[in-house]
Amino acid sequence: MITAPLIINKRIMIHELPKLPYELNALEPIISQKTIEFHYGKHHQAYVNNLNNLIKNTAFEQETLEHIIKTSEGGIFNNAAQVWNHTFYFNQFVPKGKGSPSQSLLEAIEKQWDMMDNFKKEFNAAAAGLFGSGWAWLVKHKDGKLEIIKESNAGTPLTKGLKPILTFDVWEHAYYLDYQNRRPDYLNALWSILNWDEINKRFN
Ligand code: MN
Repeated sequence: MITAPLIINKRIMIHELPKLPYELNALEPIISQKTIEFHYGKHHQAYVNNLNNLIKNTAFEQETLEHIIKTSEGGIFNNAAQVWNHTFYFNQFVPKGKGSPSQSLLEAIEKQWDMMDNFKKEFNAAAAGLFGSGWAWLVKHKDGKLEIIKESNAGTPLTKGLKPILTFDVWEHAYYLDYQNRRPDYLNALWSILNWDEINKRFN
């Protein structure tokens, strides 16, 4: 009896740096071209490169980015989550800002914080008060309730079954070239370049 060789069909995922939906200088003066060149061109790219190198010849090289984030730890988790977090962060901006919160998002915000201004204040306070490097997130629970959470380092709501709506990166590499130690100034400025059309889509 001749046994046919077992053919394993391997589908290897190569992760790539997603294109930005705007030019490198388009978010000036809120985020300078220089910051985008480093933050996107160097840091985000490095997380992509590190991830591809770390998953080589492991079971993770056949998995989607989200699956890797939910099932890995250590260096693979850190780099995978940072790839996802940065794509989510950069995609929420647009030159000069666009749109406003949808009726349903505004209602959910007002239910939790009474007024949009209170929400912004609490979000900024959470982001400003995050010790060290990390991310402030607006997340939606399964029952529709909104919450502001803080995550250190590469932390992401994806591992907690929460739906991310908005995030501010508070690693120093996100603001130091433009704002030095003035993290609150950077946080205040970000609201003017938000693409609410994109954020509304995430909420729905
Ligand atoms: Mn960053």
